[in-house]
Parts: sequence; C-alpha cells; structure tokens
Amino acid sequence: MKIFNTLTRRKEEFVPIEPGKLTMYVCGPTVYNFIHIGNARPMIVFDTFRRYMEYKGYDVNYVSNFTDVDDKIIKKANEEGVDPSEISERYIEECKKDMQALNVRPATTHPQATKEIDGMIDMISALIEKGHAYAAADGTVYFRTRSFDEYGKLSHKNLDDLRTGERMLQVTGEDQKEDPLDFVLWKPKKEGEPSWPSPWCDGRPGWHIECSVMSKKYLGETIDIHAGGEDLIFPHHENEIAQSECTSGKPFSHYWMHNGFLNIDNRKMSKSLGNFFTVREISEKYDLQVLRFFMQTAQYRGPLNFSADLMEQAKASLERISTCAGMLDSALKDAPERDLSADEKALLDGIQTFVKMFEDAMDDDLNTADAITAIFELVRAANSAVRSSGDDKAPAELVKAYLDTLVKLSDILGLIVLKEDDAAGDPEAAEIEEMIAKRKEAKKNKDFALADGIRNELLERGIVLEDTREGTKWKRI
Ligand code: AMP
Ligand code: ZN
Repeated sequence: MKIFNTLTRRKEEFVPIEPGKLTMYVCGPTVYNFIHIGNARPMIVFDTFRRYMEYKGYDVNYVSNFTDVDDKIIKKANEEGVDPSEISERYIEECKKDMQALNVRPATTHPQATKEIDGMIDMISALIEKGHAYAAADGTVYFRTRSFDEYGKLSHKNLDDLRTGERMLQVTGEDQKEDPLDFVLWKPKKEGEPSWPSPWCDGRPGWHIECSVMSKKYLGETIDIHAGGEDLIFPHHENEIAQSECTSGKPFSHYWMHNGFLNIDNRKMSKSLGNFFTVREISEKYDLQVLRFFMQTAQYRGPLNFSADLMEQAKASLERISTCAGMLDSALKDAPERDLSADEKALLDGIQTFVKMFEDAMDDDLNTADAITAIFELVRAANSAVRSSGDDKAPAELVKAYLDTLVKLSDILGLIVLKEDDAAGDPEAAEIEEMIAKRKEAKKNKDFALADGIRNELLERGIVLEDTREGTKWKRI
C-alpha cells in the first residue's frame, strides 16, 4: 500500500510500527452547528481508508476527536442563552446521526477536548519544564516555536519566511509573546466563558494542544498515521508536531494524509464563506449513499467540485451498481446448482481480475476513482454473464461469486448496494412501492385518513413502513 505522505511529499510504501496493526488519528469537527458536506469529505475518505486497511487484515485503532471548546461554540451558546456544553452535546449527537447516515463507522474512540483537560495541563507543564513553553504575566501560556528546530517540516515552510508573514498578522494583545511565531497553549478565561483551574490561571486550552494530548492518550507517543483536511497542515498539524515531539522526544506520526477541499464554483466550501450545504440538507434530496459515492469519484487528495449535475450522475451510477446487485440476488434464488462449464470456469476466475484491479487502485494512495471503475467492470461482466430468466440460467456458484464480490468491494467504499430486505427480490415489491407512493401523495394532500389506511392495509399483510430521511422504507415482519 502506497500513501502520499505530506511530511516527505512523496508516495511511500506504508510500513506499520507494529506488524498487522494501524494507529490512526483524524482531526474531527468543531461542534457548533450541523456539519457541512465539506466536513463530510475527510470523514468519508478516512473511513474508506480504515475499511480498506481492515480488509487487508490490519487491526485498526481509529481515533477522531470532537472539538467541544472553541470561540464559535461559545458565541453560539451566548446567542441562544444556553451553556456551551449544551451546544456541543447537541451537535455531537447530530454529527453522529449524519455519520451513521453516511455509513461512516464510529471511531474506536471519539474523545472530547473538555474531558481531557488534565492531560493538557500535564503536557503544557512538561513543555514549560523543558523550556519549550512559557507563561506570560496574565497567565497565557505560549509555545516557544524557535525552541523546536524542525518547526515547519510538515508544511515545508521556512521559519524566517513565516516570521515576515506573522509580523504583518501580529495583533495587539499579543505583544507579550517572546516571538511572533509563538502560539497559545493555554489562555485566561474571559467573562462568561467556560474555564478550568490550572497552575497558570483559570482558563481554557488552545486548539492545537487538544489533538497532541488525545492522540498520545489513546494511541501512544508515536502513531502510524495522522490525517485531516489540507487546511489543517498549517498551523494546526505543524503545531501538533512541535508540541508532541518536544514533549516525548520521539516522532509524532510516521505518515500524514490530507484530503483536498470540496469546492463549490472552485471555491472551498466553508461556513465562513456561506457557500455550504449541510449533510442534513443533502439528505432531504438524496439518499446519503449518493453523497458517499460522489465523494469517491475523485482521488482524495485533489479538489472536488460539488454540483447538482455531478450528484445526478453519481445517483445514476450508484443505481447501476445496486440494480446489478438486485438482479444477481434475485437470479441466485432460482439459479441451478450444477457444475460449471469450461467457459463458466473462466468467468469465475475472471472475477479475480476485477478484485485485483480494485486492490491495485486502492493500494495506489487510495485511488477510489479507479476502484469504482473496477466495480463497473465487474458489473458489466456480471450483467452479461447472468440472466435472471430464460433457459440459460447461470449456475449458482457463478452468480454467488459475482454477488459476493460486488457486495464486498462496494462495502469497502462504504456503499450498501444490496439492502437487507432487498425490494428487488420480493415478488410484491412493485405493488408495495406503488402503495407507498399513493400514501406519500395522500400525505401531501393532507388526506391522513387515506395515508393511515394504506399503512394499516400493508401492516395487515405483514409489511411495516418506516419513514426515514431517505424516504419510506419497508420490510416484512
Ligand atoms: P472544522 O470543523 O472546520 O475544524 O473542520 C473539520 C474537518 O473538515 C477538518 O479536517 C477540515 O479540514 C475539513 N474540512 C472543512 N471544510 C472542508 C472542505 N470544504 N473540503 C474538505 N474538507 C473540509
Ligand atoms: Zn487536530
């Protein structure tokens, strides 16, 4: 497996610290609102990476934090007149719902900054002791950037260039810093802000120290991979390296992976620009599997432009895969159990070619775009080899091999192409779908008696309806 390492700016063979194990930390969202689909890109990309590494046999310890203390959370709490923890807890729950709908698996651990304050105080104290940090008169603690010779190694920035830039950025109130490059580890509380006692002042941690502390606590001093969006390379990840390496004297992370931006009209989607769609908004129009598929039509490092057209294309492409899975599933129900002919044996062996294509693409720095092409090749082969009706039915062994491979490869991308109670296989599916459509229409016309009547009629036949954000689903009980 080759991954592009931001640290060396090269694609490198992945060599884990411990054979068969992978420790990975992904910077998570700041929780003050619903996540937007730009935030969903790293979640999807690195969830797919995790799934693929597990498929390859790695035992993955995957940690992703929630930043639950931050200016934006405090601002929102003040606007609503509630405690900041109410805002962060609310949006952590909403974020988890979105993740589930995107089929992003929960991390092994989802630490929260506010629950790790003791560890932050310990790390800051250690940095002060070693001369890498200092407390100013008002109790603010700064990291002494120049004390770390390797500062800039991730973002490939030179300290002196940074210094010129920083000077221009210097704002009043920061003159207590020894050097403009120094950054905050701990800051004194302001009125109405959450705070914790510390040896320096009642206050709260800076953003960067969170991740250094949580990564160390849950994964150890040196980890395999640290990841996030490319906007985090500088200063966030650069600062994390400085803090962690100055504390432990060891390398912080062997590999650094960064996803490119999700853009709209070639500009980064972001809350501050106001050009964003929340995952929730998209879920009202599309099954979020479509969004997940769309995100993987491009390799993760490049920019990805979002548009309605591309989403429609993604929807159609995904449907081609799920239609094929449904066809195979229904063909399997009455496929003959017989020996394979020589031609069928060749087809069976041929399936491995598509698996190899898929793996080669994924091994090449997670090239999901090419991996999807491999899935389409498999779909094409399956569609031409298997007929669900007629006299020349394909044998069960072959149909099953196509179906299992299709489901397995799609699952690595987090795509569920064969729903558990797959409607396509049910002889009454079309009729049930029609009744669901009638019920929807009735609800639209506020004819709730008719809508309820339809639901009850189906229930009597042992079919339950479930109204979800992706539309009404049904299953037999
Ligand atoms: P934030 O809540 O802004 O700290 O972002 C959480 C994660 O989403 C980080 O890894 C960001 O780099 C990432 N992110 C934010 N906006 C975008 C975007 N438009 N495209 C891709 N990733 C993004
Ligand atoms: Zn982080």
